[in-house]
Amino acid sequence: MKPLSTLAEAKAAGCTHLELVCNACNRSHICLLDVVMQKSSIRTREDARSAFRCKRCGGRPDQIVFLNRAPKLTYFEYVVALWDHGRREIEQVLVAAQSLDEANPAFDSVRRRHPQRWVTLESRSALLRDSYRPEFVFDG
Ligand SMILES: [Zn+2]
Repeated sequence: MKPLSTLAEAKAAGCTHLELVCNACNRSHICLLDVVMQKSSIRTREDARSAFRCKRCGGRPDQIVFLNRAPKLTYFEYVVALWDHGRREIEQVLVAAQSLDEANPAFDSVRRRHPQRWVTLESRSALLRDSYRPEFVFDG
């Protein structure tokens, strides 16, 4: 199979996240594919490479990896998830809700309880809110 080169192909193949890796700093950062796709200048893996810069050393990411790490949402519409310290995996789905009226206050509460952690509120198809602290900065 030919490697996925565009974000749209990756999304169609079920990928949900994009990982940016800086080899020099041995750091990586996971972004939601939907969030990256909102930037119209980024359509391909190469676009992403030239659009992000490591916050620590200023270098371009050495690797761009498409991932599928979202839990399968079979029943609930919204999920508040707590990610592990490296933001590589969802450690725990803390809240599953059927409405935003339930999910929004739950997200606020989880974020207050875990100020050092990455917390996301996702619907079936998109990231709605997150406690995003980027390791890579978008500089076009
Ligand atoms: Zn770096």
